[in-house]
Amino acid sequence: MHKRLFIPGPVEVANDVLEKMATPMIGHRSKEASELQRGISEKARKIFNTQEEILLSTTSGSGLMEGAIRSCTAKRAAVFSIGAFGKRWYEMAIYNNVPADLYEVEWGNAVDPNEVDKVLATGKYDLVCITHNETSTGVMNPVDELSLVIKKYPEIVWCLDTVSSMAGTKIEVDKLGVDICITSSQKAIGLPPGIAICSFSKKAVERAKKVTFRGYYLDLLLLYEYIQKKDYQYPSTPSLSHMFAMDYQLGKILEEGLENRYNRHIEMANYVRGWGKEHFELFADERYLSNTLTNIKNTRNINVGDLNKELGQRGFQISNGYGKLKEKTFRIAHMAECTMDDIKELLFNINDILKLQ
Ligand SMILES: *Cc1c(COP(=O)(O)O)cnc(C)c1O
Repeated sequence: MHKRLFIPGPVEVANDVLEKMATPMIGHRSKEASELQRGISEKARKIFNTQEEILLSTTSGSGLMEGAIRSCTAKRAAVFSIGAFGKRWYEMAIYNNVPADLYEVEWGNAVDPNEVDKVLATGKYDLVCITHNETSTGVMNPVDELSLVIKKYPEIVWCLDTVSSMAGTKIEVDKLGVDICITSSQKAIGLPPGIAICSFSKKAVERAKKVTFRGYYLDLLLLYEYIQKKDYQYPSTPSLSHMFAMDYQLGKILEEGLENRYNRHIEMANYVRGWGKEHFELFADERYLSNTLTNIKNTRNINVGDLNKELGQRGFQISNGYGKLKEKTFRIAHMAECTMDDIKELLFNINDILKLQ
């Protein structure tokens, strides 16, 4: 039996979108390939709220994260981590020999804008990495406040990981001043895994030109230049199947209406939070709760693995706590094409299994 996924990626993908993956191939140096990538970029710009270029990478989101920190750090990167995915930026820097420092908070908390201000005031850094929506903890960082601080430092290239939030909550890339805003296909966008996109500002372009060792496959400047010189093409052979599906799904997202989509996500988030508070507790600082997933503290000491097995027999799957939070929390994703009816059905079944009223 197919288990409906309520995990924070991959998510359920609509059948008509899955079918687009089976579109017959075209040449990747054809006019049609350019049109396909241009179409994706135009639609993505509306969702990202940006006028900047959109780069496409047929890797998952981690590919663009690694490419960003490597291609655009000329001096030193400051990584502000609030969980597992924040720390990943730092590991990428270290393994690529990119100078970087890690600033962490206790899991469940958000980044403190005053801390960012203090760190950047040292003048040591020219790139900052921040996770918008930390999927391991269920925290959504206060990007409006962070933006005010980061704008005080014009030499900073700001990389923002919106892998689990873009298209599930409003993110105004240009207004915030984000230079490289990254997202993957398999989360709130509602596509199969295997393709990622990011915005790439002119500041980021100029910075990358000053970095000698940008790698090749994940060199964001090369991706950018191919778009400019070769009319929206890709330096190697892209996953055209994903591109067909992405072009179609981004169109569907715009058709739903972005505000409608964000409101649907908030409505589902409120419902799951209410249920979580009624029967358990929420893990994250309540001022910074994620709109796309909820991380619930296992205050009843249930066996989360067993719960998931029983849910599996009924055709549902949720997520255990991430890493060190395994069995201590569990996560319910409410993103992409998920509806209130889906959420109600899931929670009804959890209530039934756990004998909650
Ligand atoms: C899933 C996730 C990633 C990793 O993305 P991949 O597409 O799996 O490479 C990075 N950051 C966050 C916040 C995520 O949720």
